[in-house]
Amino acid sequence: MARPISPDALAIDPLGGEFADRATETAYLDQQLPRTRAQLGFTLLFCALFFVSFFASDVAALGLVADTALLLAARLAVAIIACGCAWLALRRPLSIGATRLAASVAECVALACFMVIAVYRPGEFHWHAMSLAIMLLVIYLYIPNRLVYAFGLASTATVGFLALTFGYAALDFADMLTLGMLLALVNTFGALAARRYNQVAREEFSARAILQHAAERDHLTGCFNRRFLHERLMGATSPLGPGQPHTVILCDIDNFKQINDTHGHAGGDAVLAGFAGLLRATAREGIDSVVRYGGEEFLLVLPGMGREAGVQLAEWLRMRIAATPVPDSAGGQPIHATASFGVATVVPPAAAVAAPVALAQLIATADQLMYTAKRNGRNRVESLTSTPDPQPASLAAVA
Ligand code: GH3
Ligand code: MG
Ligand code: MG
Repeated sequence: MARPISPDALAIDPLGGEFADRATETAYLDQQLPRTRAQLGFTLLFCALFFVSFFASDVAALGLVADTALLLAARLAVAIIACGCAWLALRRPLSIGATRLAASVAECVALACFMVIAVYRPGEFHWHAMSLAIMLLVIYLYIPNRLVYAFGLASTATVGFLALTFGYAALDFADMLTLGMLLALVNTFGALAARRYNQVAREEFSARAILQHAAERDHLTGCFNRRFLHERLMGATSPLGPGQPHTVILCDIDNFKQINDTHGHAGGDAVLAGFAGLLRATAREGIDSVVRYGGEEFLLVLPGMGREAGVQLAEWLRMRIAATPVPDSAGGQPIHATASFGVATVVPPAAAVAAPVALAQLIATADQLMYTAKRNGRNRVESLTSTPDPQPASLAAVA
């Protein structure tokens, strides 16, 4: 079963704008990965094109001399690295860490070559400051990377550039001060805007996760609802893959109407919530699904589980519910309840049949078995294994 969404899991760290919970942050980044790769690839290609095209300004400033060839080599080096990283991002299934490495490498090389170009054109440090400001904004806002990495690279480059300005440019104190303040402003607003973007994107992710969680679950019991069953378990994302057995258990609380009549609907609700909690606690995280199939009917979908294990689980659940009375919130006698179970298993190669059909058939079989358990006296488990053999499979009654 999916983890319940707690406010803690969705809390956003105010400094970097990331989820404080590592698991949620990883889930967010995983979901964003295709978009991150596309954005990284496109932006790096765009930057490479502009970096090379600015060679025209080198020629205009220096003329066609040996230094111009050196600057062309520097610009081409940036373009080659940026295009290589873009190719990796667009064509290779990069991990999140790899996209950040590619972004950081391309940024480092571009900033370093930019410094070389500035030194070879020492008369234009005002213009270089403007170019650097634009590059920093691109690093903060357009090249997808962690804010902390972007800030580290941008602030180091800013300090390096100011040192070069001090050493190579003949600027007076007022110019140096203005230039330094402008770059400090760019870094501050760049970092703030990147943090805000991080926050907004994560808030949107949280809102979608909360809505999806609510849309797929039953409010009273926290179990999945029929929408989840039909859209996720019976749809293209069905967990019932070929080549292994699968089991479903359908369970129905016995004489539940009588429980309602005796203890009121609140008492009935408490029994439902308690039974659902027991079912969810036994489900394997990320593998099994517990669905509220009807009013007091629950469905367990157990991918990869054989009949013997399924029957054992149903038996254990049958005994637990019978042995665990639910406290009556109205102060009456504890509420005793039992349940009847139908366990249906499909084994290979029948499991290779298209999953939606197989699951629908399995549920229908489990439903019939559950009604057999009712007819045979309730508080029972009935099971059946179906095979590809068209002959009717044998029915085995347990307990
Ligand atoms: P059986 O042993 O044959 O299953 O008998 P039963 O009384 O459990 O089955 P029946 O279908 O006659 O009654 C089911 C009852 O469950 C009727 C309905 O009012 C009640 N019910 C359905 N949903 C809820 C719910 O969310 N809360 C409560 N308290 N009762 C519910
Ligand atoms: Mg019932
Ligand atoms: Mg029923």
